Amino acid sequence: MLPVERQQRIKELIQDNHNMKIAELSKVLGVSEMTIHRDVKPLIDEGIVMKTFGGITIVRDDSSVNESDSDVCVYCRRSVHEKLAYRLILSNNKIEMTCCAHCGLLRHRQLGDKVIQAICPDFLRSTTISAPLAWYVMDTSISIGCCQPQVLTFEWREHANKFVQGFGGDVYSFSEAMEAVFQKMNGHGQNCCKQR
Ligand SMILES: [Zn+2]
Ligand SMILES: [Zn+2]
Repeated sequence: MLPVERQQRIKELIQDNHNMKIAELSKVLGVSEMTIHRDVKPLIDEGIVMKTFGGITIVRDDSSVNESDSDVCVYCRRSVHEKLAYRLILSNNKIEMTCCAHCGLLRHRQLGDKVIQAICPDFLRSTTISAPLAWYVMDTSISIGCCQPQVLTFEWREHANKFVQGFGGDVYSFSEAMEAVFQKMNGHGQNCCKQR
């Protein structure tokens, strides 16, 4: 198999499975893990897939672009902006998209174990990061124009800390943020993100 063919095959495999380990790919394709790493590199550069601690995860699923619902938040039905979108990759091979980390965390909490991977953008750098490894900022003074209470995501804790130094707010880990946004919503006693 030519490297180009193998790369195409890797892309298809990750598109079908949404998340694959390097070891699995190496077994399926009968080449070394080193070779898989090399083949995957251009796909990462193109922003099609990303590396996570679990292996390789799809970022952009070309095959589902035409679904009419693809740019509407599954949680609050707001339209999704790429810069804030939080994606949930489910065990039944579906990808759900929410408008921002606020809805992403609430939906993630709702689905629990059905979520095999979740990804979101870094607020400062717009790179794609693994949601369970991200840092979350709430109650900041900057308005991102999406759901309240706002939830911003950062790859590095240091960036999140610096951000709250400048714009106020609190930094949370993934599990803390998931509980905090849930509690805050309950505290308000309303579906604040569903009101437009
Ligand atoms: Zn939403
Ligand atoms: Zn939102």
